[in-house]
Amino acid sequence: MDNCIFCKIAMGEIPSNTVYEDNDFRVILDIAPANPGHCLILPKNHAADIFEMDEELVAKAHCLAKKIATALKSALKAEGVNILQNNGAAAGQSVSHYHIHVIPRNTGDNVTLNKEGNSMSSEEFGAIADKIKAAL
Ligand code: 5GP
Ligand code: ZN
Repeated sequence: MDNCIFCKIAMGEIPSNTVYEDNDFRVILDIAPANPGHCLILPKNHAADIFEMDEELVAKAHCLAKKIATALKSALKAEGVNILQNNGAAAGQSVSHYHIHVIPRNTGDNVTLNKEGNSMSSEEFGAIADKIKAAL
């Protein structure tokens, strides 16, 4: 998919704050995080949404979501974690390359999951990516 931003990020053609990578996936920090440490799991092969995903890869993606969620709990002391995956514009999907959101949560953090995210400096992104990487 020549015009897909997440294909370019997943394949390393566009730089990202990567916290994890294997043969099938790259896990990056969301550019507009709902909370610091908000991760996105991106398959390296393009699939627009869950309906285009190979079933085995969906299973692998969810195992990886558990691994990332566990790292967010330990690295960031998150009390809770949201795992979200939107399919189609009607469901709130804005980038048509399958991805899973893994979002650290704390009591009273006031995150509402349908609002725009917050901005962070590159230093803040780098520091939080390092923390998560150290827990993986
Ligand atoms: P969706 O709304 O499709 O479920 O989620 C798309 C997510 O991708 C949003 O949370 C948005 O902030 C994030 N995003 C969009 N473009 C980029 C990008 O270029 N880099 C990163 N790291 N995140 C992106
Ligand atoms: Zn893509």
